Amino acid sequence: MNEEQLAEIIPQKAQESGFCAAGFASVTLHKEGSERLLAMIRENRHGEMHYMQKELSIRNHPEKLLPGAKTVFSAALPYRFPLETKKESPRISRYALVNDYHRVVRNKLNQLLDFITASYPGPVSGKVCVDSMPVLEKNWAEKAGLGRTGKNTMLIVPETGSYVFLGEILLDIELPPSPSPQFDPCQECDACLRSCPTGALVEPGKIDARKCISYLTVELKREFTPDESAMTGKWLFGCDICQEVCPHNAQITTAPNCTELMPREELIGITPEQILSLTRSQFKTLFGSTPIYRTGLKRLKRNARAVKENLKNF
Ligand code: SF4
Ligand code: SF4
Repeated sequence: MNEEQLAEIIPQKAQESGFCAAGFASVTLHKEGSERLLAMIRENRHGEMHYMQKELSIRNHPEKLLPGAKTVFSAALPYRFPLETKKESPRISRYALVNDYHRVVRNKLNQLLDFITASYPGPVSGKVCVDSMPVLEKNWAEKAGLGRTGKNTMLIVPETGSYVFLGEILLDIELPPSPSPQFDPCQECDACLRSCPTGALVEPGKIDARKCISYLTVELKREFTPDESAMTGKWLFGCDICQEVCPHNAQITTAPNCTELMPREELIGITPEQILSLTRSQFKTLFGSTPIYRTGLKRLKRNARAVKENLKNF
């Protein structure tokens, strides 16, 4: 199979395995993505995510992860599902109610990489990346034609929305880049900016992580200050507000087509009190297969203490 044939068939194969969008981009320096990141670091909006600074030079150069990298294959796996919650209920972000996406997306991409290496007439090296390596994921997804970044800083895929997991395959062969969709997701809308309860979306497409509930409850390693504790509101892990109000995520009536990404019912209504009483082994049983397990019981209990306090004021 030659390069053109592969570029046509791989996105089709990706769709068959559950991805909603997929495409190719050439490895060149894409200034917008790295400039966005540089500005975030310069303005200290990355908070205590010091790793972002360290990995900046690798993020700009995929060839440092895979010598001779020429193409990035990017793919989006949807995890949208309907979710009914009461206004005053404690919440967990949708992505954390399902099995850890790192493993699910990586397995699917490894199968695609096997297909590429078996179908290409010459030698091919590839590397699968799923959020665990310093790669400018949203940037590559845009360049590969998957969608556009909205004012809420999330990648929005036409006809699917922003509830997607991204993954990449770096390849050392040159495949034709995919066309970019003519798609302007936001236009006059500013629902996400108006709805963010902490003002973390400081301007369209610009986030201050230090005020973002998702950063506070997932990334921040230390104890909360009183202000941070109050900011978390009812969110035990992550925050979906700026996605829930987005019209691109409206009218979700169907479960994901990938059975591994079905929401875990027992986690939807979990209370801060239940979390605070968990032992280590109970934590492993309940959260072992979800992204929450990586954050650990200590931080989850920190979040639960904050939410328990905040719910008194709802
Ligand atoms: S995730 Fe929550 S806190 Fe962060 S920007 Fe979106 S709405 Fe604001
Ligand atoms: S809520 Fe509106 S402004 Fe925000 S990302 Fe969605 S479409 Fe864009």
